[in-house]
Amino acid sequence: MHCDADAFYVGCELARRPELRDKPVVVAGKLGSCILAKSYDLKRAGVKTAMPTWEVKKKHPEITILEADFQYYSEVSAQMFSVLGKWTPDIEVYSIDEAFMDMKGFRKLYKMSYPKIAYAIKEEVKNHLGLTVSIGVSVNKTLAKMAAEVNKPDGVTSVSWRDIPSWLQKFKIEDVPGIGRNTTPMLNKLGVHTCADFTNLTFDTVKRILHKPGLQLWKELQGEKVFRVEKTFAPNKMITRTSSFTPLTDHQGFLWSHTLRQLERAIEAMNDSHQMTREVTLYIRDKEFKRYHNTFRLPNSTRSFQVLVEVLKKLWKKHFPKGVLIRSTGIILTHLSQNTGSQLNLFEDPGLIIRKDQLEESKQGIKDRYGNLSIRSASSLRLKNLGPDRKKAIRAKTFNVDW
Ligand SMILES: [Mg+2]
Repeated sequence: MHCDADAFYVGCELARRPELRDKPVVVAGKLGSCILAKSYDLKRAGVKTAMPTWEVKKKHPEITILEADFQYYSEVSAQMFSVLGKWTPDIEVYSIDEAFMDMKGFRKLYKMSYPKIAYAIKEEVKNHLGLTVSIGVSVNKTLAKMAAEVNKPDGVTSVSWRDIPSWLQKFKIEDVPGIGRNTTPMLNKLGVHTCADFTNLTFDTVKRILHKPGLQLWKELQGEKVFRVEKTFAPNKMITRTSSFTPLTDHQGFLWSHTLRQLERAIEAMNDSHQMTREVTLYIRDKEFKRYHNTFRLPNSTRSFQVLVEVLKKLWKKHFPKGVLIRSTGIILTHLSQNTGSQLNLFEDPGLIIRKDQLEESKQGIKDRYGNLSIRSASSLRLKNLGPDRKKAIRAKTFNVDW
């Protein structure tokens, strides 16, 4: 499979600003520069990537222009890959928003056809991150990547071995990923314009006119598996969990409950990947999109809820902006290491550290058995069943900052 996020930067922005959905949006570099990404309707309306911002403003005054926030995009990207990584260990991160996934044999495990698996993955990314992706399913990397491209946005395209020859007929030779700008005119001169023209050449002809990479592509287009999925999925470099709030709120107790829920989810992710953290960041974004980022470095790596909650309390008390409407909050765990058991340190009772570890293990055992939400802190429990009128529900429920 090849999974490719649709208009990724714009998708990330819409995920955290749902009020902009269905409105024309572009993401640009710093003011005065050019367009980096645009939504699909704008693509159709003729707005082009790399167009200067002033030109877009003049031609389309109704468009919202957002300044790129690459740190946020890379956080979303890491989250997307961690969702994909749950479906297969053989995943190759290809760019900030694309990955190849080797799913061979997993039909049995998931009891679904490959296209159904692709739909399930697409749904999971949408539910977790509010992003749409397109997925191509085929017998090798080249065909999967081409398939992901044809049904954007939000599409799944599956090309079975049998369908390859007829499916390739509609592609021009320059649509094949890996056919370079210089190769296209050369092939055109030899009468090769479509993919089918190319695959109809004999092995010997291709060998004569192209180098090894060209020959490899020719084989892949015949349905052979030449390129392997190179497992580049390093264990997560950071774990991020965020929430955004509509309507915006300054309700401290409610926001704190969300921070606790984020912590619980981040610990679940650490447990899944057998990691511990040494650095915790609390970030908050207010109504005016002002960001508050505050980081705390721990003396030792940990995955204990109690330890991390104390750190977050400290950061919260010191840095939380009072009386300001909040748009989103999140926590970021960095300095991750493989879980090798807690380091004992001189200042803490070793018995206590061991007991905290045991508690964490028991909680994980319960979650493994009954599902991730089966055990959670009392504070975040109140986020359950808020119902459709969240504003009223938040007021009615007692959200206390309970420290
Ligand atoms: Mg993309």
